[in-house]
Amino acid sequence: MIINKVNQPIKVGVLGFGGLGQAAARLLAPKGEMIWVAAADRQGYAYNALGLNPNTAIKTYHDRGSLGYLDADGTLSAHSIQDLVTNHSVDGYFLALPNLPNTFMADVAKQFIKSGWQGVLVDALKRTSAVEQLLELQKDLQAAGITYLTGCGATPGLLTAAAAVAAQSYAEIHSVNITFGVGIANWEAYKATIREDIAHMSEYDVETARSMSDEEVSALLDKTNGIIALENMEHADDIMLELAGICDRDRVTVGGVVDTRNPKKPLSTNVQITGRTFEGKTSTHTFTLGDETTMAANVCGPAFGYLKAGIALKRRGITGLFTAAEIMPQFVK
Ligand code: NAD
Repeated sequence: MIINKVNQPIKVGVLGFGGLGQAAARLLAPKGEMIWVAAADRQGYAYNALGLNPNTAIKTYHDRGSLGYLDADGTLSAHSIQDLVTNHSVDGYFLALPNLPNTFMADVAKQFIKSGWQGVLVDALKRTSAVEQLLELQKDLQAAGITYLTGCGATPGLLTAAAAVAAQSYAEIHSVNITFGVGIANWEAYKATIREDIAHMSEYDVETARSMSDEEVSALLDKTNGIIALENMEHADDIMLELAGICDRDRVTVGGVVDTRNPKKPLSTNVQITGRTFEGKTSTHTFTLGDETTMAANVCGPAFGYLKAGIALKRRGITGLFTAAEIMPQFVK
């Protein structure tokens, strides 16, 4: 069993307390190997070394807009991440933050490096160009004593790792095609996710999507009947599979459909890995996620599996940047 100090659960923090951050807190509640001790949002943070209560935290966030208002455990702060990281003890953080602008996550990583904090960081970044910025921090992360696992959500993440495993049947990989279906009841529950998806639509980019008001996003979704259909997205699955030595990035494609008005998935999320075996046969492996699994389950589950794997690496003195395609996630009990 991988635990931080003998018989001590891993103390976990969640940065960003929107759709994914809240799901992360609920997912961790029944776990014995990890304890959720900290979370930060834009206006404040909460910390309790014995564990935070997800129900009261989520209620406070909804009713008052920030965890900073949480009785006893909350602190309001305009520099919530910095204050939390420098003042409290946490073994590893899941960065469930919007990557808006596209440089935001790399800036947060730099903030961690500067702070002197040592531990494990896991993100669910999506864009290739965002992962490329982190690659530039490889040496700095290593020197700082931080083990950082990037692209550890669903796609990139679970599906990329599945592709890396499936590739082993082949002598050469012809293509990796990822198609995702996401169904959510309302877009406001996952504002950053939806804005970042809009940024992939033709005539939009990260800056235009970031600067859209909530009303403008709602008006756009009215026009599309709540559907966002995307193809040939800039998704880091490509660079992750290239770095892992599976195939060139131009053989990886990602697209999907998001329904922002219906929790039922519009299509089954899957990854198809086509290649040639050593005997010269061409074949396709398909890995399909169960339709009942939500985006939250398929992002937060892997994120903590990779966080546990990162803790194991860190305990062996291995620091620096890794992607979800080169490390096997561990199951968190
Ligand atoms: P959200 O909009 O619901 O919540 C964002 C949270 O971050 C809010 O609590 C907000 O207060 C907080 N925040 C914003 N700026 C902050 C700052 N400067 N300091 C501290 N907190 C800050 O976000 P979401 O929809 O849960 O998405 C989170 C991220 O997860 C997005 O970047 C999204 O693209 C990514 N994501 C990845 C995958 C995947 O499969 N890889 C899937 C879905 C979402």
